[in-house]
Amino acid sequence: MRHILLSQPNFKIGNQTFEAYWLPYAVGCLWAYASQHDWVHDHYTVRDIVFRRSNISSYVHNLEPVDIAFFSVYMWNREYTHALAKAVKLKYPKCVIVYGGPEVPNPTPNSWLADHPWIDSVVLNEGEHPFVDILESVAEGNPVAQQYEGRRMTDLNVPSPYTTGVFDSIIEDNPHVQFNATIETNRGCPFSCTFCDWGSLTYSKIQKFPLDKVMAELDWVAHNAIEFITIADANFGVFYKRDMQITDRLIELQQNTGYPTVVNATWYKNSSEQVLEIVKKFAKSGLSRGMTLSMQSMDHTVLDVVKRKNMEISNLKHIFDQCNKQDIKSYTELILGLPHETYDTWCDGLCSVIEAGQHGAIETWLCQILINAELNTPQQKDEHGISTVTAYDYVTSNIDDDGIAETGEIVNATKYMSTEQMIEAYAYGWLIINFHCYGWSQVYTRLANQRGMSYREMYDNLIAHIKVNSGIVGTTYRDAVKTIEQFLRTGKGVPSGYNLPYKGQTVLHLHRDEVIKFVDSVFTKEYLNLNDDQHNDLKKYQHAFTTDPYATYPMPLHLSHNWPDVLLGQPLSPVEKKYNVDCLENNLSLDEYTMRLYARRRQGWGKSVIRI
Ligand code: SF4
Repeated sequence: MRHILLSQPNFKIGNQTFEAYWLPYAVGCLWAYASQHDWVHDHYTVRDIVFRRSNISSYVHNLEPVDIAFFSVYMWNREYTHALAKAVKLKYPKCVIVYGGPEVPNPTPNSWLADHPWIDSVVLNEGEHPFVDILESVAEGNPVAQQYEGRRMTDLNVPSPYTTGVFDSIIEDNPHVQFNATIETNRGCPFSCTFCDWGSLTYSKIQKFPLDKVMAELDWVAHNAIEFITIADANFGVFYKRDMQITDRLIELQQNTGYPTVVNATWYKNSSEQVLEIVKKFAKSGLSRGMTLSMQSMDHTVLDVVKRKNMEISNLKHIFDQCNKQDIKSYTELILGLPHETYDTWCDGLCSVIEAGQHGAIETWLCQILINAELNTPQQKDEHGISTVTAYDYVTSNIDDDGIAETGEIVNATKYMSTEQMIEAYAYGWLIINFHCYGWSQVYTRLANQRGMSYREMYDNLIAHIKVNSGIVGTTYRDAVKTIEQFLRTGKGVPSGYNLPYKGQTVLHLHRDEVIKFVDSVFTKEYLNLNDDQHNDLKKYQHAFTTDPYATYPMPLHLSHNWPDVLLGQPLSPVEKKYNVDCLENNLSLDEYTMRLYARRRQGWGKSVIRI
């Protein structure tokens, strides 16, 4: 009997109160697929499935002999995998080391293999068939090939790692761990964004898993009390009828069993009214944290060059409008550093997302060069003058004790934006996220926008004031700029780089009065073209719009104009109304309050709930 090691480690999720990990879905699929064959069971048994980043020396010290080790490699475990695979090879030199996953260069140059001499074989594309081929070769005593190219699987009627019990022992052996599950309802993406390693000609056709397999996996999830699942499809909602059936089953399971509690999905890029129907169901059941509308850029030239197809702006406006009216949370992602993006197109893009109706959550990412993305080709890098910096622990801060930092290549300049301009552009995103999305200036700017003033003009004005402010606002801004500058120049200094825009929010909330005073000094009655009465009344609304960590909620708010309606497009009129101002959660410690400013940002944390 030969022994297999399957490895797909990921970071620990959670703080002191809980410990969660992702079930290692990719390697689970391989073993479930191979297990269909009796001969595999006659020759092989799984020694262990690595799902966490533990201390490598002690792990390998305790590891009993293994004959083949398969490593699924992605950006969150590449460096860890190299260290683990090397250590396994050192202890068991005859062990066949096989790498697969998106971080294996495709095609794999000989020079890469020469640089990684502990690797015996690499698997490209879908791994199920090559996995079986490798097991067959080793079982028959034949040498493995250096490279296996997986065929695109057209028949996805394959066993599930969940329902065939691949993960049962992991779950039993780790009763204190909460496991998250990945569900694939289909594979492939019809798009081919050049910054992505997913969509390409190979994967352009979407293949569906049989619906009964998907449903059985959802039943397994509920039965095993899995709280968090992510639907790993590139475009959930693209098969409306079928995806609605999946949604209905999830809701039914949640109602009957309590699980799962949260479902994360990447929505169909050309999201329409139909996709919104699915999101609405999720939101109503409390399963979803909202709708992600990833735009990546709002500039047509950029989108053309990176081969990205976004929905039409009119459709986007309609979706935001529906989300806002029905209180469905949504958030929008943009990537800084794409080809042809300039400082101006970036700032315009941020402002046009707001203009379209996104007032809740915007996330800005720095462009990461993925190893198998088209953007990583020498032609693209050369054509767009792409310069990168090696960043440490950018995707997720490493809270595990393995001591190995994961790295990523982050764009720090292009032909269209110098590093200095990228710093400025990132700072503009900081401004929009911190002041508009978190609400400090949102009432003023939305009102003025209703009256014809552009967001770009208003936020250009606000940032000019912030730059020369010597108080807490200016200091917080300059701290953010300093940090991003250090990060873009050295790749160091920001644990989880994308978190940076939010770091200052805690400081701003703790200095609420000063921040409010500063914003008031920019959006004066003259600037907003209001009389004293109107301006004083509007100020009351704006001041109540962000939460106060030291206040007791709920609290009353009397307004003498219909400002909340004005923001939704109604004409201004003097109307006396009483409102109730509340915080999303009350009676929290200061630590809990500030933690939520980051963790619940997409649900509107930091902004008050103001209702009649
Ligand atoms: S970014 Fe999304 S839409 Fe574009 S190719 Fe990748 S998975 Fe497909």
